[in-house]
Amino acid sequence: MPAIAVIGAQWGDEAKGKVVHHLCRTAQMCVRFNGGANAGHTVEDALGTARLHLVPSGALHAGCRGVIGHGVALDPWGLERELDELQNQGRPKPNLYLSDRAHLVLPHHRWREEADGTADHIGTTRRGIGPAYEDRVARRGLRVADLADERSLRDGLEQTAAQSRFKGDIERVAADLIRFRERFASRTGNAQELITAALRGGEGMVFEGAQGTLLDLDLGTYPYVTSSTTTVHGIGWGTGVRVSLGRVVGVSKAYTTRVGEGPFPTEDLGAIGERLREGGGEYGATTGRSRRCGWLDLVALRYAHGVNGFTELALTKLDVLSGLDEVAVGVGYRIGGRIVERFPAQAEDLAHAEPLYERLPGWEEAIAGIRDFTALPAAAQRFVRWIEEQVGIPVTFIGTGPGAQAIIGRGEG
Ligand code: GDP
Repeated sequence: MPAIAVIGAQWGDEAKGKVVHHLCRTAQMCVRFNGGANAGHTVEDALGTARLHLVPSGALHAGCRGVIGHGVALDPWGLERELDELQNQGRPKPNLYLSDRAHLVLPHHRWREEADGTADHIGTTRRGIGPAYEDRVARRGLRVADLADERSLRDGLEQTAAQSRFKGDIERVAADLIRFRERFASRTGNAQELITAALRGGEGMVFEGAQGTLLDLDLGTYPYVTSSTTTVHGIGWGTGVRVSLGRVVGVSKAYTTRVGEGPFPTEDLGAIGERLREGGGEYGATTGRSRRCGWLDLVALRYAHGVNGFTELALTKLDVLSGLDEVAVGVGYRIGGRIVERFPAQAEDLAHAEPLYERLPGWEEAIAGIRDFTALPAAAQRFVRWIEEQVGIPVTFIGTGPGAQAIIGRGEG
């Protein structure tokens, strides 16, 4: 099995968790390399709905080890809560390994995110991720490896908390962190070496991207972006491993959603937006916030393909489009009287982009749970083929419902 990357092609929430989980049926390792507990990957299977924020989605399979690379902002309290929830669902304990170079998200990071207004301004998930990455770049962050020495851990905590003017109980934070260290002591270390050895040993590996390409710190709709590298390039950045990827799967819904602030050219503030939100259950897995909704945007999707070099697409939530007379897809923008087919760098330009739509026939039939492409209504098949032609890569997975089994695999899928 070649190494596979699964990358969000939109503004996150593309249902990557389900695609990763599906691909990991035959993988031995699933690696997170970016983001933190601001991710909300959902897997619905026979044991219930698992909402994963830090645990790699593939690690729900007994034979698949989950690795948290150093690019992940690691919230120890969040991870422990998540593991407890999985245990309460009666799931086997995930086999996890943590990079000792991963930066810790600490209580003062969450506090700072509220205090400095970024939570409201950007519409972040309020998990302290941005401030934790800020501390990392400012070279004052604390990492998993810093948990080894209690005295320097306390000093580090005091210093960083003082810089944030955080008044919380540092002793309690330190005690929690030491307990965390003890719990994970045997599963913490050099993740780069672990991943490299697994690749050399021929293990099947899936790299699970969090958030989406349009939220990438540099390549997304800056400044309305997340604070990590969300594209395929984040794999080297967040693991230190030079991987030769066999497949890069771009995950896109059959329409578009966005959470929080920032430009979204095909957003529909009327009945279609509402219909997609209700039909798709578009409420955030991490925050419960309602997502902004609109038609699929090919300008953005081609841009994401250009950035990541997708070998294929996973088109999720196709079932949500059932029952519509016609389905529209954005194929260009009009910005200040000019027709534009490239995704602009300036959020300001995008905010003024008026989308140009191609309209395709819709289909009446419900397709929930269909697992065979030829069983889809003809118009739904045409819609998928048309997207393949427009983007120039095959659609190898199609999502036909929330459940882990509601997926059509085509070709290698
Ligand atoms: P992620 O962060 O990219 O993994 O996406 P989320 O987990 O936030 O969103 C995926 C949500 O959509 C979950 O509740 C899934 O159960 C659900 N879902 C996944 N695939 C499909 C699909 O094909 N159709 C429908 N209707 N729901 C889906």
